[in-house]
Amino acid sequence: SKPAVSVIGLGEMGQALAGALLAAGHPTTVWNRSAEKGDALVARGAVRAGSVQEAVLAAPLVIACLLDHDTTYTVLEPAAEALRGRTLVNLANGTPDQARRAECWAEGLGAEYLDGGIMAIPSTVATPQAFVLYSGRERPFTAHRETLEALGGAVYLGADAGIASLYDLALLSAMDMMFHGFFHAVALATSHKEGSAGGVTELLVPWLSSMLQMLPSLAADVDADRESGAAPGFAQGLDVVLAGAHNMARAARDARVRADYFERSGADLEEQIAQGLTLFTAPEAVRRLRVNG
Ligand code: NDP
Repeated sequence: SKPAVSVIGLGEMGQALAGALLAAGHPTTVWNRSAEKGDALVARGAVRAGSVQEAVLAAPLVIACLLDHDTTYTVLEPAAEALRGRTLVNLANGTPDQARRAECWAEGLGAEYLDGGIMAIPSTVATPQAFVLYSGRERPFTAHRETLEALGGAVYLGADAGIASLYDLALLSAMDMMFHGFFHAVALATSHKEGSAGGVTELLVPWLSSMLQMLPSLAADVDADRESGAAPGFAQGLDVVLAGAHNMARAARDARVRADYFERSGADLEEQIAQGLTLFTAPEAVRRLRVNG
């Protein structure tokens, strides 16, 4: 039979995680501040713990999925002693610093700790698209890997407890900017009386999909600190990129759409040209995002 697991926190995500563990055949104990959120899980065979402490004591692996780190401490503090000898997997979204602090806290209590970042939404948990990033000591990851795979692909990033949340936030940042770009495109297109969100989206999806193919070669340029784009056909003069940025800013202003992003990026490109650079390169684009170079 499969190892027992406790899930603490049954919000949208915690319910999906506990559901996936049940579906995979793990004896699952659940706890949530608002107990009724466990009703559907209990109907499917989960055991409802009467307290957080009872939930922690029920399994060697305790998965917490609460709002944030502060909430996680608030909820787990009363059961702190029960954590000794168990593994705590914290899936609350947080920063790398918060993850390292949580590892210290858990290890101080004699528990093992893994920090995780869920790259899924509740409806995609345990589907082939879902994956979860983990970091912290390798021993608990290896020991619980099979169980964790029930939630989605388990990706171990390293021994620094902070790296899973760093990568999680990197992926979320890119997603956020992609959505921002989408909304900008829609605002621009719908400023025209014949433009529509659906119309521009029909073109945007294939366009962005083809541009996504460029990312691995841009990444290779950054890793090799290669100045000339390895991506064939990507090489663009900074003057060409600057003219485009000016046009995007001007067209946005004319359409009464915010242009500040493109104004800033135009100023940035002008600075590169003033420094004598001529080619747009991925390593330079990344360098320019760093504060203090
Ligand atoms: P919900 O708002 O649905 O759930 C929040 C959970 O935190 C509930 O269990 C809630 O308990 C509990 N909680 C909040 N405040 C307190 C408190 N003061 N004391 C005790 N318990 C508290 O959020 P999600 O389930 O969506 O998200 C949980 C975590 O998962 C977050 O860190 C989120 O970033 C992460 N995540 C979520 C994703 C998503 O698509 N939803 C995707 C990836 C990660 P109660 O039910 O009693 O209010």
